[in-house]
Amino acid sequence: MLLSLLRRLPSICPPLRTASVHRRRSAVMSVSPGRNLTADAPKASLKGVVFDMDGTLTVPVIDFPAMYRAVLGDDTYAVLRAASPTGSVDILHHIETWAPAEQHRAYEIIAHFERQGLDRLQIMPGALELCRFLDSKQIKRGLITRNVGAAVDLFHQKFGLMFTPALSREFRPYKPDPAPLLHICSTWGVSPNEVMMIGDSLRDDVVCGIRAGAFTCLLDETGRYESPDCYTDDLKPNFKVSSLKEVFPLLEKHFNLVPPSQTA
Ligand SMILES: [Mg+2]
Repeated sequence: MLLSLLRRLPSICPPLRTASVHRRRSAVMSVSPGRNLTADAPKASLKGVVFDMDGTLTVPVIDFPAMYRAVLGDDTYAVLRAASPTGSVDILHHIETWAPAEQHRAYEIIAHFERQGLDRLQIMPGALELCRFLDSKQIKRGLITRNVGAAVDLFHQKFGLMFTPALSREFRPYKPDPAPLLHICSTWGVSPNEVMMIGDSLRDDVVCGIRAGAFTCLLDETGRYESPDCYTDDLKPNFKVSSLKEVFPLLEKHFNLVPPSQTA
């Protein structure tokens, strides 16, 4: 199990943090290891933000349940869902255990669904404003997705937003491995503890961020991570928001936003 691979975090958790959540006020939110985000503590420095793409910078348009059923079959999909606390399935890792011919068939099906998604691609509300805010503060913007590079290229072209670096699933190992996030930090010349990972997947984005040693922010638009049962002591984002519009006030409140060329 992935979670068993996660290093144990300190059990001492300073007060829980949430951005202002209008519809839901979750009891989840915490701090990451070694971080002190209590109200009296000095603000931490933040020099870069790394985003997930599908479901975070773009509105979810891929019918993932239909895709999973097409790849896995109804029965296997039901078994894997039942075994996951959040009902989510790591299809890419599952496929990697298959024979080459089966893998090829699976990737063809996934590519078909992803192409359908590209045709309906929409920018997430608040994404443009958040990027403009980060640019105004000279804070770096990067992207990590388990989607293909062609989808990232289309996203860049369609919305006129560039993320550098932007790592797709051709970069191995992909999320939730911390390698892509550590690669971006290295490229920027900043420490992972000066970076925030933002995404809509607890299993992929938050785990990736935690394992890299970055701050983490979970985007939960639909309330699927409402239940405390979704979280364990070693798997909690620093922040949870229900909209990207909540992120920039959160950043201003809790961090010193420092361009990478400057020291805090
Ligand atoms: Mg996502």
